[in-house]
Amino acid sequence: MAPVVLITGASRGIGAATAVKAAYAGYDVCINYLNSADSATAVASKIEALGRRALTVQADTAKEDDIIRLFETVDRDLGRLDALVNNAGITGTGCLIEDLSGSDLKRVLMTNLAGPFMCAREAVSRMAFKHGGSGGAIVNMSSAAAKLGSPFEFIHYAASKGGIESLTVGLAKEVAAEGIRVNAVRPGMINTEIHASAGMPDRCERIAPTVPMKRVGTPEEVADTVLFLLSEKSSYVTGTIVDVSGGR
Ligand code: NDP
Repeated sequence: MAPVVLITGASRGIGAATAVKAAYAGYDVCINYLNSADSATAVASKIEALGRRALTVQADTAKEDDIIRLFETVDRDLGRLDALVNNAGITGTGCLIEDLSGSDLKRVLMTNLAGPFMCAREAVSRMAFKHGGSGGAIVNMSSAAAKLGSPFEFIHYAASKGGIESLTVGLAKEVAAEGIRVNAVRPGMINTEIHASAGMPDRCERIAPTVPMKRVGTPEEVADTVLFLLSEKSSYVTGTIVDVSGGR
């Protein structure tokens, strides 16, 4: 039976690129999404064209009930779970801290930090040896913002990604003897719709000259690193955060 990976936020951007590359690598894939049902279906079609099973599940990964339903749907329809990519994320609204609304802060922290915690909980409860699982791999999506702090616009987003890195380091140690590796990818500026969603459609063009490699990255370049961290090629790698940032 093919290994199964669940990728949150896989209808677009980095998650979608990771889903297609996972199918190339031999995984059956659960494509989670929030609103973009048509885009999720298009990703599923690409995966099925590669001869792999694809399951699309609408679920808000900022909500515990939705997360539980998401994992139960994978249990029922795909029958196993070998890997989780905690990818879904939002920037929230760019602003100075004195203009930050409580609701925006809560939404960013729930989506980018609490959601991945609860997804990791569900994955560990299925993959850990002590729970009858066969081990597995978790990859969390951090951001260069965790190091840079994103002053004057996205400190709340940066802090949520700092939290993801602590989750990665701590959980990797907690479940290492349970056959589960936990790593994170820390992308720099990647050309996806996240910037337009944040009201900054020209962000990539603006930032590109400041990147040591003088360009932004592609979703596929991030996906390649995620697939490496999921694969046996990284069998002795855990608790690590890999920069994919063109030197930024
Ligand atoms: P996109 O905006 O292109 O895609 C975001 C994806 O996440 C979509 O599939 C979206 O679903 C989904 N999503 C958002 N919120 C939720 C939610 N509450 N529940 C379920 N799914 C949700 O983002 P990127 O591909 O750019 O970003 C992916 C990850 O990479 C994020 O964690 C981001 O923080 C991180 N990252 C991105 C960088 C970049 O420059 N692009 C840089 C550093 C990190 P739907 O389509 O249905 O809305």
